[in-house]
Amino acid sequence: MIRGTKEWAVAEVNCSIGCPHDCRYCYARVAALDRGAIQSVGEWSRSRIIDGEIDRQRPRYPGRVMFPTAHDIVEENLNEALEVISRLLEADNQVLIVSKPSLSCIEQICDRLSRRRNQILFRFTITARDGDILRFWEPGAPAYPERLDSLRLAYEKGFATSVSIEPILDLEDLVDLIGEIEPLVTDSIWVGKMNRIEERVRIESSEAAAEVERIRSEQHDQKILDLYDSLKDNPLIRWKESIKLVVGLPLATESGLDI
Ligand code: SF4
Repeated sequence: MIRGTKEWAVAEVNCSIGCPHDCRYCYARVAALDRGAIQSVGEWSRSRIIDGEIDRQRPRYPGRVMFPTAHDIVEENLNEALEVISRLLEADNQVLIVSKPSLSCIEQICDRLSRRRNQILFRFTITARDGDILRFWEPGAPAYPERLDSLRLAYEKGFATSVSIEPILDLEDLVDLIGEIEPLVTDSIWVGKMNRIEERVRIESSEAAAEVERIRSEQHDQKILDLYDSLKDNPLIRWKESIKLVVGLPLATESGLDI
């Protein structure tokens, strides 16, 4: 089944292990633990460069390539990330840059790569506007105003822009969130559920239990069907596989179609 990053890109490139954003639902942290790249959950918040990934020559992929998929672009790895993206662009690739963006990083990426902006699509993850919700689920990531400013900056600098609202962290505010961001989006707004909660989210407090329960209840099929009804006529909206399965839309049949 085509799911996750394969819905967006034919290839994935990363240059770091670990991510200071430390999202509670992080899939990459679980994968890093499983393959022994980190020894404990606590190690994940420290970003370190993967040997050999920066100077590697990059091929031309047969479709859009996503960078990064298993960490984020943060101050600690910005120079290395810029080097990797530059090599992908020089190999004539179309690059999907995905981030919970810090304004400073996006400013530098836009400045350094402006000549190649027609090969770049930004996809900023903006899962909610509420500060308390974001601090709980994505404790190290930029707050909503900084993500919005980053989106505005990329848009005003003439880059193609898109947003990922995956996972939906605040269903009640979702339509208003989309209303605020859509004037700054040139390409698409992806919407998806939180996946594999039991495997990825540790319930170590009553607050965590209550938040997980809230997310589970907001992801009930009827609420997803209602959400689909309210947004299905918006041409910017794309549905992740987790929602297509609920509403009965056909799944992607090959990777990288981004539809
Ligand atoms: S930004 Fe992505 S890689 Fe970083 S902790 Fe969050 S989900 Fe994991």
